[in-house]
Amino acid sequence: MSTDLSWLKRKQRSKRVNKPFLSVTPTEARSFCAILIDMPQKVTRLSATKISTFEQCAKYYEFQYVHRADRSFTPVEWEVGSIVHSIIAKLFRQIRDKQRGTVPKLGNTEWYRPLLTDATSNLRLQIDEGLVRIIRPDEELKPYEEQMNSALATFTAKALPLLEDHKIVGVEADLGQFHLDAIQMDGRLDLITQSGGNLFVHDWKTGARRDEDARQAKIYYFASKDKYRQPATTFTLYYLAESGDIVASYTFGQEQRAVLSTEIADIAARINALDTYQPRVSVLCHWCPYRPQCDEGNAHMSSHPAPCRKDQIDLGLGA
Ligand code: SF4
Repeated sequence: MSTDLSWLKRKQRSKRVNKPFLSVTPTEARSFCAILIDMPQKVTRLSATKISTFEQCAKYYEFQYVHRADRSFTPVEWEVGSIVHSIIAKLFRQIRDKQRGTVPKLGNTEWYRPLLTDATSNLRLQIDEGLVRIIRPDEELKPYEEQMNSALATFTAKALPLLEDHKIVGVEADLGQFHLDAIQMDGRLDLITQSGGNLFVHDWKTGARRDEDARQAKIYYFASKDKYRQPATTFTLYYLAESGDIVASYTFGQEQRAVLSTEIADIAARINALDTYQPRVSVLCHWCPYRPQCDEGNAHMSSHPAPCRKDQIDLGLGA
């Protein structure tokens, strides 16, 4: 009696067809992935903060945006900025929900106090747990509490009255699908309002004025023009840590967009051309949350102590 073995032959044929052209062991696959991870990646997205970080230290940029490494801590200065921004955003969200979106004259000039008290207790806990770190030597939380209080008092006295009767269009909104030279630009617009048919975009700054603020203004201005499509748009920075005139307003002509586009293309090309992300040591290594993983930063710190509060430095590293 003959047995039909054609099914077995079919199975063997199908096995041969499915055999991979290149076979690699799991170890070889892991090494290949490691090589890919270590190679500088082609830039497809940028933001004002990413660019400042890259210009400050390419290795920091690599930790933050290429490897997305875990931070060892958050410097207290960054947390102070985040708290002030989140309290102001809460106010405008509440106005949008309860006041039909129109900014009223605020009767209570200390509206932020309960929110600040909660945020400060939380900050104290984070410092105790080592998640947030005070870097400057011999410093307590007190000066940072005063800094937050002063920024919110300045906002209430000098920025808020300028926004009375403005209609709120957006709070902490993204830049939409804004591209410059095929690079997607990311960022966050702190507040967008409308008044008299004009669009106003507002950005709160809790640190010192920096040269690169003008570049951020340009990116946010053109992104807002594209996203909201209003003919008259103004972008304003409010420097809440300053006394005197805290406002810097910007409008730009179309020719500036081409200049900005070229600038962004050049920056992307510089990043794309890198073989390795080189460290750039400076006093800011003390504030770098990736420093425990950075040999060069650690070596620099041992011979360069962190400055005290009276020595003002520009904390240029991006959060
Ligand atoms: S410790 Fe200093 S050199 Fe190292 S990544 Fe951070 S900023 Fe750059």
